[in-house]
Amino acid sequence: MTEISAPQPPKTRCRRCLLAEIAGSEDIVAAVGRARELIPKSDLCPDELYKKRLSVCRECDHLDSATCLRCGCYVEIRALRLGAKCPAGKKKW
Ligand code: SF4
Repeated sequence: MTEISAPQPPKTRCRRCLLAEIAGSEDIVAAVGRARELIPKSDLCPDELYKKRLSVCRECDHLDSATCLRCGCYVEIRALRLGAKCPAGKKKW
């Protein structure tokens, strides 16, 4: 029987980094890729908008180690869905 383990949080703390830049987060980066593949194309955020969303997150005080402190999501996953919204009271995207 194969044991499946959940991706572990990054070991390195970097307030402004996204997962792709944090050493030790390769499992989660792979999970982002799998999540992207599972989302129907019609629900997937276009690349340019996705990049724009992440650039907003990078400047946000609620970002910590690729995690949004408002909702606990990895922003690279939260931003994937076209209909997703920033969880801040005053939405940033
Ligand atoms: S509050 Fe919004 S802009 Fe800030 S990190 Fe979370 S999702 Fe990104």
